[in-house]
Amino acid sequence: MSESRRVPLLIVGGGPAGLTSAIYSLRSGIECEVIERAVPGGQVFIADRIENYPGFIDPIAGSELSDRMKAQAERFGARIIQDEVVKVEVEGDLKKVTLQRGGQVACDALVVATGSRPRQLGIPGEMELWGRGVSYCATCDGNFFRGQKLAVIGGGDSACQEASMLSHLASEVYIIHRRDQFRAQEYIVQCAMSEPNVKVLWDTVAERVEGKDEVKGVSIRNVKTGEESLIEVQGVFIYVGLIPLTDFLQGVVELSGEGYVAAGEDTITSVPGIFAAGDCRVKPLRQVATAVADGANAIRSMEMYFIERGISSRYV
Ligand code: NAP
Repeated sequence: MSESRRVPLLIVGGGPAGLTSAIYSLRSGIECEVIERAVPGGQVFIADRIENYPGFIDPIAGSELSDRMKAQAERFGARIIQDEVVKVEVEGDLKKVTLQRGGQVACDALVVATGSRPRQLGIPGEMELWGRGVSYCATCDGNFFRGQKLAVIGGGDSACQEASMLSHLASEVYIIHRRDQFRAQEYIVQCAMSEPNVKVLWDTVAERVEGKDEVKGVSIRNVKTGEESLIEVQGVFIYVGLIPLTDFLQGVVELSGEGYVAAGEDTITSVPGIFAAGDCRVKPLRQVATAVADGANAIRSMEMYFIERGISSRYV
């Protein structure tokens, strides 16, 4: 789509926060468009299973939860457009959003729900062997490593959850964690620890991914003893945190030092009419449940903003 158009609300990102905003907005009679650069669902789409989102007695695959949210938004008439936002300009109350494919959308309100992407570790061999044994997505790539030995780097929810998922495919899974304690929630830790083929290498950092055309192992160092060694693995899954996808907002709205959008629970940012929902916002807990809450709050804040500014959300 390369034309210019105007909508009352533009939502950037089709994950749980963005899709919830779309559902709430459309149910309030306010037309909106959702711009999603990849597959609706965001990080949730690649989660193997989710068991702490209310309403699902049994664990649900992230892809299924995403599909359900998308279908629900579409039932209310959501238009989900595959494109990427590259620039946002604020002209008075109007926000002008430039898309990768060349179009421009003017809107009265913008909900930024872009989420985040996996952080890279930055060690030698990581980029060189990306896609040839190094991965950031167990759900996408785990199946390539059936019966093989794997390393998972990190100690958060993602590392522990994906290690337990990979343990069903791999012969052995080593979790390499730089401290002697996990950051992950207890039930997720227990799930990983109950797998007989998961072994934790505490106080250990990965220094280099070894291999030329494919992964042969990981050179590791114990940070307490200084001892260096090599573990032979065929795959390395890296889960060392997330980077917010907010580059296009640099110089537009206030961001934290780490790049998260500065906004409270009301999702109101430093620019009136721009709201930030989900993982891209400064917040203490990044979960599907908190993203969904943000999506709903963003629409309430937007409606208050429309009333305060006397902005009509209906175009004839
Ligand atoms: P995270 O919670 O930020 O954890 C990152 C992990 O990587 C930490 O253990 C950290 O170690 C380690 N780390 C960071 N930089 C490192 C480095 N340079 N070298 C070695 N290790 C490093 O990230 P996440 O696990 O991807 O989770 C992101 C968010 O999604 C969290 O809010 C999480 O709760 C949420 N999430 C939720 C679920 C769920 O509820 N089912 C599943 C997945 C993710 P330290 O602990 O030493 O800092």
